[in-house]
Amino acid sequence: MLRFPLLVVLLLFAASALHAQTLTWQPQHIEQGSPVLFTLTLDRPATHITATWLGKEVGFFPANDRRIWYALAGADVEQEPTSYPISIGGIYAGGAPLNTTQEIQITAANFHSSTLSVAKAFIAPSPAAQRQMERDAAAKKRAFASSVSQPLWSGSFAAPVASRVFDNFGDNRIFNGKKVSIHRGSDFPARPGTAVHALNSGRVVLARRMFLEGNCVIIDHGNQLFSIYMHFSRLQVKAGEMVKKGQLLGLSGATGRVTGPHLHVSLRWGGENLNPAALLAMKLPETREER
Ligand SMILES: [Zn+2]
Repeated sequence: MLRFPLLVVLLLFAASALHAQTLTWQPQHIEQGSPVLFTLTLDRPATHITATWLGKEVGFFPANDRRIWYALAGADVEQEPTSYPISIGGIYAGGAPLNTTQEIQITAANFHSSTLSVAKAFIAPSPAAQRQMERDAAAKKRAFASSVSQPLWSGSFAAPVASRVFDNFGDNRIFNGKKVSIHRGSDFPARPGTAVHALNSGRVVLARRMFLEGNCVIIDHGNQLFSIYMHFSRLQVKAGEMVKKGQLLGLSGATGRVTGPHLHVSLRWGGENLNPAALLAMKLPETREER
């Protein structure tokens, strides 16, 4: 009675040892703030894959034949530069287990410093402004808690406006000679009234006026990946709405904490702040969910 299950366990172990899996990633060189596309290539289909990296769940999804699995993730702008293991588990079709761990090196990025002036109301906010910021923080927290566990994006991400992005992701910023912050996004020059488009398909999880962000849109692209757009003069979408890649989100402006009209775009994965300009430069696969 006992011998049979033992034999099955041994056979499964032997079967899993015979299977090969290869993990690759793009970009090959991952620095602070890099978005990362992981590609797991198997020699036979798997029924599901789970993974963790940087203490977060990495949402792998299959290509059509389930031998290739993808996940979009990334390293925070302030991630300590060292190596972090990604642990991948799963089950092959037929029941054999899959387990692999690989070290992923994150290197230091060369961020710039910049000095700028903004209105005093944003440096020393009034009690009313502080209450507004608390409401904004609660709204953002709700929005970021609502990601679906499948990719809503498909293919490479597209620029939100025609103008070329400034190279200012990760800038150490000195406001009015004192307050220091990090620029957790990319800015695009945009005259007021410029049409702003969705980087990729997804669901609008926030579309409202906020104190620092001004008129703001947040899109859930699935598996904890969000794009955030700020300082609109006018919003053209509502929370809950599904949007397609390239869809009009609103008109750019200068609302919130700005030094002048522009479009600010942030990118978040699992709470990590990633470089939107780097994501725009990546060639990404079509996902199974064609939209
Ligand atoms: Zn900005």
